Amino acid sequence: MKIENYELKGESMPIITYPNPVLSAKAAPVTGFDSQLEKLVQNMLFTMYHAPGIGLAAPQVGLSQRVFVLDIDYDREVVTNSSGKDEVRMSNFSPMVLINPIITGTSGSMTYEEGCLSVPGVYEEVKRFKSIHVKYQNMKGEFLELEADDLLSICIQHENDHLDGIVFIERLSNLKKNFYKKKILKDKKK
Ligand SMILES: [Zn+2]
Repeated sequence: MKIENYELKGESMPIITYPNPVLSAKAAPVTGFDSQLEKLVQNMLFTMYHAPGIGLAAPQVGLSQRVFVLDIDYDREVVTNSSGKDEVRMSNFSPMVLINPIITGTSGSMTYEEGCLSVPGVYEEVKRFKSIHVKYQNMKGEFLELEADDLLSICIQHENDHLDGIVFIERLSNLKKNFYKKKILKDKKK
């Protein structure tokens, strides 16, 4: 599940924001497990780390494909370098990539304050499963399974929702959902 010997490299991709229709579309399964996919994953990780975020799904960079990356525990600090400028240093990467994931088991529930790179500025508590069992493929196309709890479980559920065209504000109460939808549309017009 984890990518071994990860090196931070690649290109930043523009992050698509709500309500772009690509974020509401059901993404198609990944079928080609080739160098193009490897490149995409590399660029998605690079984009996620620099955003910064803990998860990024392909629809968020405009590609309607069932793949997402995540890393819930890397270190990030802002340091002043020798020429007196602030510099972001990141280390201890534990990147993961899940391709064509399917949540096959769930248990318990918990709420956690979520945010999303595609919905900047919105942070709200969302109720999700505490533990999940997931079947997925790695970059070689091999079939794997994992158990996830707590933050990892929440992150996978949030990213998996993106593959089904669901942005986390859709999981809020109708009152909050409508409030944010209106607010976002209004802010976009400015
Ligand atoms: Zn998101």
